[in-house]
Amino acid sequence: MKYTSTRGGTDPATLSEALAAGLAPDGGLFVPDAMPRVPLEDFEGADSLAAVAARLLAPFFAGDALADALPAICAEALDFEAPLKPTRVDGCAVLELFHGPTAAFKDFGARFLAACMQRLHGPGDTPRTILVATSGDTGAAVAAAFHRRPGLRVVILYPDGRVSPRQAHQLGCFGDNVRALRVDGSFDDCQRLVKQALGDAALQARMPLGSANSISLGRLLPQMAYHAHAALVHARRRGTPLNLVVPTGNLGNAFAAILARACGLPVGAIALATNANAVLPHFFAGADYAPQPSLATLANAMDVGAPSNFERLRWLYPDTANLRKAFVAESVDDATIRAVIARGEAQYGEVFCPHTACAIAVFERLRARRAGGDWAIAATAHPAKFERVVEPLVGHAVDVPPALAALLDRPACAEPMAADYAAFTHVLDRTRHAG
Ligand SMILES: *Cc1c(COP(=O)(O)O)cnc(C)c1O
Repeated sequence: MKYTSTRGGTDPATLSEALAAGLAPDGGLFVPDAMPRVPLEDFEGADSLAAVAARLLAPFFAGDALADALPAICAEALDFEAPLKPTRVDGCAVLELFHGPTAAFKDFGARFLAACMQRLHGPGDTPRTILVATSGDTGAAVAAAFHRRPGLRVVILYPDGRVSPRQAHQLGCFGDNVRALRVDGSFDDCQRLVKQALGDAALQARMPLGSANSISLGRLLPQMAYHAHAALVHARRRGTPLNLVVPTGNLGNAFAAILARACGLPVGAIALATNANAVLPHFFAGADYAPQPSLATLANAMDVGAPSNFERLRWLYPDTANLRKAFVAESVDDATIRAVIARGEAQYGEVFCPHTACAIAVFERLRARRAGGDWAIAATAHPAKFERVVEPLVGHAVDVPPALAALLDRPACAEPMAADYAAFTHVLDRTRHAG
């Protein structure tokens, strides 16, 4: 399979080329040149998440240098569970995506991308520096995934004082080939510095750079696997498609579900749950697509005013009327997030993180409109990551999962940096030979 740009202005690239480049040369996003259909028989005997992933992704890797390594990449990167757990509410299960090293679903994509990049990097190649601007979960997942990988190093930029203390600790606790910079500025400043560096040919001549942001195919493709796995488990048990509600910011997780359905997996309805950042719900309700500056909410990993994967959605559904018919998108405000978390334990038997709470609220609206069938709510993070929001609402401490506790036990350190490009390149050059 080859990959073309959503903007149509580039030659077809191999998967390996698309992984190395991140963004297509014309500024668009890489998309497959044809959508494969994967027959359900192909999944016979595939029970684990890694086995489902290897079979589902095989057509996406066909003909690429990484094709032979795909089963090993899946086994290495997708080595933790994504269980589909029933709740106390009939027809409502939770797809738990937080059993990875940093307790959020971004571990799946980050670990898969790292396993691919490791194999694309020759032992004699100049070390590659992966740059990540983060407002929380992405940076930690990428840091954990690339930690101690030879020939690769990670530089994380985050806005000082604007991530939770537990998130800051996770970003700074790795060391070795991972360096955390706490930037005196906003998330947008961090993103601007990363973009400028990635476009700086002189800098790239001194040190090859790479990006790990949410538009990377290396993160997007593996996210199809847990939606597919859950749908197969459900279909084997019940013989019906599984409907999904996905907490949505940049549309990475939800678009992976959409791709899995387009490949022929037994996924039924897909509902997108946003927080107060309602660009997608407005569009699906009939308004023009109008990106906005992002608003700060309790579900901060979804504080996105211009969903980066929207271009891929337009590519898959070029006709606007068809696109609007294919999904539901609903916005959930902070007051509702609080209310869902506060009653979640009594009603569902679950403590929800603020992002997952958005999806629960959307499920409840659909049910109130008499939507039938079985639903899986994607639980994108463990509630212990957002203890300052969650604990006062549920009235007790939330146990920290062991992998997260191990990270929080390590000492953490981040270097302060001005939101200034000269300061950034100075740090990059000074530490070029580390790691
Ligand atoms: C990143 C993130 C989201 C949003 O996912 P997108 O792929 O950006 O739509 C939702 N919940 C959590 C916990 C996240 O970290």
